[in-house]
Amino acid sequence: MTARILVVDDIPANVKLLEARLLAEYFDVLTADNGYAALDLCEKTHVDVILLDVMMPGIDGFEVCERLKANSRTSHIPVVMVTALDQPSDRVRGLKAGADDFLTKPVNDLQLISRVKSLVRLKTLTDELRIRTEAARNMGVEDMLRTGDGRIDEIAQVLLVDGRANSQERIIKALKPVAAVTASSDPQAALFEAAENAFDLVIVNANFDDYDPLRLCSQLRSLERTRFIPILLVTDSGDEPMIIRALDLGVNDYLVRPIDPNELVARTLTQIRRKRYNDRLRTSVRESIELAVTDGLTGLHNRRYLDSHLKVLFNRAQARGRPLSICITDIDRFKQVNDTYGHDAGDDVIREFATRIRSTVRGADLACRYGGEEFVVVMPDTAADAAALIAERLRGMIEHRPFALKADGSFLDVTASMGIATLTPGTDTPEQLLKQADRALYQAKSAGRNRVVAAAA
Ligand SMILES: [Mg+2]
Repeated sequence: MTARILVVDDIPANVKLLEARLLAEYFDVLTADNGYAALDLCEKTHVDVILLDVMMPGIDGFEVCERLKANSRTSHIPVVMVTALDQPSDRVRGLKAGADDFLTKPVNDLQLISRVKSLVRLKTLTDELRIRTEAARNMGVEDMLRTGDGRIDEIAQVLLVDGRANSQERIIKALKPVAAVTASSDPQAALFEAAENAFDLVIVNANFDDYDPLRLCSQLRSLERTRFIPILLVTDSGDEPMIIRALDLGVNDYLVRPIDPNELVARTLTQIRRKRYNDRLRTSVRESIELAVTDGLTGLHNRRYLDSHLKVLFNRAQARGRPLSICITDIDRFKQVNDTYGHDAGDDVIREFATRIRSTVRGADLACRYGGEEFVVVMPDTAADAAALIAERLRGMIEHRPFALKADGSFLDVTASMGIATLTPGTDTPEQLLKQADRALYQAKSAGRNRVVAAAA
C-alpha cells in the first residue's frame, strides 16, 4: 500500500520519529513544522493521511483540523490527531473538530501503522467514489464532511451487540440524544438483524464469555449487505492484540472501557457522518450513470442506451431464434410546431409524445428518444404482425387526442409516421435492422405521413 502521509509537529525530534516509522513501512512521507505550512501543503499537493500534533505555536492542531475539514478541497483527507495528553476532553474536542482518529504520545508503533493503513484503505474507496462523482459535477456531497457541530439531520440507527444487560443500558442511555439503538445479546441474531435492516453503525462490545466478537466483525465485512456498515468495537484497555486484529479485519474504530459517554457520542457521530458521506457518493455515482443513459426532456432512455442495449436484445433474439421488431417514429412536420409556437411548445409536444409512447408500449419493450423528434421502440419476442398492431395503436393514440400546449392552454393536432422492421434470417446486425426501419419510415413520410409502413421482409 503506497500512500503519502503528512506529519505535522513543531518539535523536530517528534517529526523524525514518526517519519522513520512510516518510512520503514514504505509510506511516502511529507513533513511540516507548523499549521500554516501543513494547510499549504494539503492545498498544493496530494496527501492521503495527516498526522497532526495538537499543541503547536501559531494555530494549534484543532484549528488546523477545522480549517482542513471546512475546505472542500481538503475535507476528505483523514486526520489523525497526535496528542500528548490522554485527556478524554481533548479527544472529544478533536473529534468535534472533524478528526478521524487520534493517537497518544508516546505513539505506539503497531497502533500507528494499523490506524494509518485503515485510514488509507478508507480514503482509497472515498477517492474512487469522488472521482466518479466529480464527473457528474454533483458536488453537493461535500457539505456532508463539513463537520461543524456534528449535527446529523436524520436520527441514526445503531445496532448494539453486547453480552451484558447493564452495559447495554449505559450505552443506550449515552447515545439517546443522537441515535436510536437496537440492542442484541446474540451475535448470530445480530448478524441477521444487520443484514435485514438499514443500520448506520454497528457497535460490538467485546464482553462475551464464550464468543469471539471478531467473528461477527469479519462476517459483517464479508456479507454484501453489511460490508459498508461502520463497526465500532468496544474492548478492554490493554487488549491491544484484539484491537490490531480488529482494525486489520476492517473494523472502523474502537473504544476502550471504561467508556467515556462523550467520546462514545463523538466517535459514533464521526462514523455515521462518514457512512452517510460515502452513501451519498455511491448514490450520486448511480444517479450519474442513470443520467448518462436517460433523455433529460422525456425521461425515456437516450440514443446511447439504445445503441448498447439493442445489441444485447438483438444477439439474444438471434441466439434463441426468437422474433424481434423495432419501430422508428417521427413526429410529422415538427419543425412547423417550433417555428409557429416556439421551442417551449415544441418541448411540450415532445414530452407528451413520450408519455403516449410510454403508455402504449408493453413492459418488455424498450422506448428511447433517438434524437430530435425521433423515437425508437424495441419490441422483443414480437413478430411483424404484432409489431404492426402496436405501431398502429400508437399512431392512433397520437392522432386522436390533440396535444396541450402549456404556455397558452391551447391544443394542437399532431400526427406521426412510423417505420417498422423485424429481425429475419438475412439481418446480420442491429444497425441493419435500424436501417430497414428507417427506410420504412421514409416511405411512410413519402406516402403522405401519419401512417405505419413495415419494411419488406
Ligand atoms: Mg507540539
